[in-house]
Amino acid sequence: MTATQSAPRAQAKAPRRISILGATGSIGESTLDLVGRDPQAYKVVALTGGKNAARLAELAILHRAEFAVLADPKGYADLKAALAGTGIEAAAGEASLLEAASRPADWVMAAIVGAAGLKPTLRAVRQGTATALANKECLVSAGSIFMAEVARHGTTLLPVDSEHSAALQAMTGTAPERIERVCITASGGPFRTWSLQQMAAAEPEQALAHPNWSMGPKVTIDSATLMNKGLELLEAHYLFDLPPEKLDVVVHPQSIVHCLVYMSDGAVLAQLCCPDMRTPIAYSLAWPERMHVPNRRLDLAELGALTFEAPDLQRFPALRLAKEALAAGGSAGTVLNAANEVAVAAFLDKRIGFLAIAGLVEATLVACSDLIGLAPRSADDVLDIDTEARSRARGWLARFA
Ligand code: NDP
Repeated sequence: MTATQSAPRAQAKAPRRISILGATGSIGESTLDLVGRDPQAYKVVALTGGKNAARLAELAILHRAEFAVLADPKGYADLKAALAGTGIEAAAGEASLLEAASRPADWVMAAIVGAAGLKPTLRAVRQGTATALANKECLVSAGSIFMAEVARHGTTLLPVDSEHSAALQAMTGTAPERIERVCITASGGPFRTWSLQQMAAAEPEQALAHPNWSMGPKVTIDSATLMNKGLELLEAHYLFDLPPEKLDVVVHPQSIVHCLVYMSDGAVLAQLCCPDMRTPIAYSLAWPERMHVPNRRLDLAELGALTFEAPDLQRFPALRLAKEALAAGGSAGTVLNAANEVAVAAFLDKRIGFLAIAGLVEATLVACSDLIGLAPRSADDVLDIDTEARSRARGWLARFA
């Protein structure tokens, strides 16, 4: 008998079964970048996309997925043709998207953009699948209902937003009552130093040129208006069960410090890393352990200085509106998010100007005071309010054109 034969055999670890909702997007592709570096460690169960059949098929083949689903049924024929002969199951439409989220898996990345991600993400949560949550709109729109489902099913929910991942890392091990304040950082976006007059003439191409992060178009525009930071306050409120007065924002143009957690003994714990979404994604993927990520390491001497400033709510009223929605509670987050999705799409289509994004959101919030008072009891109730708020926001669009 050889030494190899007589040695106790190392227990081969079964690959972790993972699914990615929103695989063709920026977060989805970054997740697959990590997964693809260690293919023995993962089995890709389901990948989903919105409309991009060609990219979804490429990714499904590259990562040997079992199931590829497109949300838009119009792309089904292209997806099926691209996957013919591969053995990968192809499907399209809402029911199939929900099925993708329900397929037994150990971990799912929820990275569909917008309120469209709510139902599929909730489906994964209800399966009890550990859920890495990139889709902040789920919490902004339906925070109470979403978190109640997380608790009911005992699901592990792991934040992917860099600020919330940083908060989780800094808070771990501290009793909630010993946390005085959580301050998330904002880069300030491409218009941090622009005047209102300059912003009034800003084109989508300029708003899409984020100084630090490479992200999908919707979140990039949200970063330029600072609505993203407002959405993140709502997200932190629900994720960490923190009241509005314990949540704060500071502008930090270098995007190196992602969150500061103020403790009751005067200590402040921060998490720092170079801006690369693969770091927080990896934290959610390896949690409670850590994994290797081959990205840039932080060199503070090379950077020289980290700077901080208060956000300017006059030039960035979207952040003020989100803070007001957080304070108002009820369905204010649902209305804010719906109006913002309509406004961002209209800006990207060049139908309204940059400053009109916050203008339209504010007008919709005023026009929806009746909806804000409603207390939804289910995801369907939330989606009804979302649909009505979108319809009213579209009604206001012409006045902002
Ligand atoms: P992208 O726009 O790059 O990707 C969005 C994904 O969702 C794509 O796979 C897209 O498919 C799919 N999709 C779009 N519409 C629908 C729909 N109606 N139904 C089902 N799928 C749909 O977005 P990001 O990856 O940038 O962002 C995803 C989420 O993560 C957002 O909520 C964002 O706020 C959040 N986030 C993103 C960060 C980032 O760095 N990108 C950082 C922190 C949070 P297709 O490609 O086919 O259109």
